[in-house]
Amino acid sequence: MASEFELIERHLAHLTPLGEHVRRGIGDDCAVVTVPAGHELAVSIDTLNAGVHFPADTAPEDVGWKALACGLSDLAAAGAAPAWCTLALTLTAAEEDWLAAFAAGFGALAARHGVTLAGGDTTRGPGLAATVQVAGLVPEGAALTRAGACVGDVVCVSGTPGEAAAGLAQALAGTPGADPALRARLDRPLPRVALGQALRGRASACIDVSDGLAADAAHIAAASGVGIVLDAGALPVSPALAAAGSAAEAREWLLHGGDDYELCFTLPPAIAADAAWQRALDVAVTPIGRVDTGPGVRLRTDDGDERALEVRGYRHFDGS
Ligand code: ADP
Ligand code: MG
Repeated sequence: MASEFELIERHLAHLTPLGEHVRRGIGDDCAVVTVPAGHELAVSIDTLNAGVHFPADTAPEDVGWKALACGLSDLAAAGAAPAWCTLALTLTAAEEDWLAAFAAGFGALAARHGVTLAGGDTTRGPGLAATVQVAGLVPEGAALTRAGACVGDVVCVSGTPGEAAAGLAQALAGTPGADPALRARLDRPLPRVALGQALRGRASACIDVSDGLAADAAHIAAASGVGIVLDAGALPVSPALAAAGSAAEAREWLLHGGDDYELCFTLPPAIAADAAWQRALDVAVTPIGRVDTGPGVRLRTDDGDERALEVRGYRHFDGS
């Protein structure tokens, strides 16, 4: 059976080039990185546990992709340009085939965004887990945060949230004829890295949608000390989402489903009105509501009724 040194050398040590911000990478006690003058590092870390963060039958390529995608999505939410990452892997056995496939998925997304895998740790443990730390660069003082939304700002979301949750629902139910595009949204999320950087200096607040649109909008509302009213008629229900269930299910997935890794952000009205800027983005953004004095997140239905939106999202320690 391969030692962890052999596993690292074969599958991870040469996965990514060093890149301009990493002087030393895998193979030494520490990675050595540089931060260009006038910039700051945005840093985030996330763990994926088998059976908790992805269905146990998920292809190893997809686990590798998603492990990095979660972190890149956090960088996107901060408006940071991805630079490097580290990877702590807990494996239940030295399964070379699994690791080779994991590395292929991880490496494919890393190559897309020019991220260097600069180091990590490889251990054996009772359950499969992948922890990825990411670091990205932002001009000093320019990082986007959840705080900063102002009354009157327009609330927007990128892409078509809810599709990952619909894909998960179909997978869990074993739905015959499940839509592979929805499953791909769950397994191969596309972090909105370019959008995040385009929002720098424009958005007043930003968050990535990992827990569900309602829950993550509530984080913006709380951090900014404002309220958010979402307009039910404006929510971007994709054809695939509409085809996967009833109108009520589609709305439920869209508002409360996690794992989409879209961005939810607030724009001052003058910027929200700039159609040319929005057309130049690599993903559609939809205005879905307004910032007001609050409280919390509410949904305005087509008949003008307003109701508070329950904040759900996944909680790891409920009932324990
Ligand atoms: P140390 O004993 O100094 O902690 P390790 O034996 O844990 O070093 O790792 C050897 C080298 O391989 C280090 O440079 C480390 O960063 C790298 N490494 C170990 N595991 C991983 C991993 N899962 N991904 C990337 N690099 C790794
Ligand atoms: Mg170590």
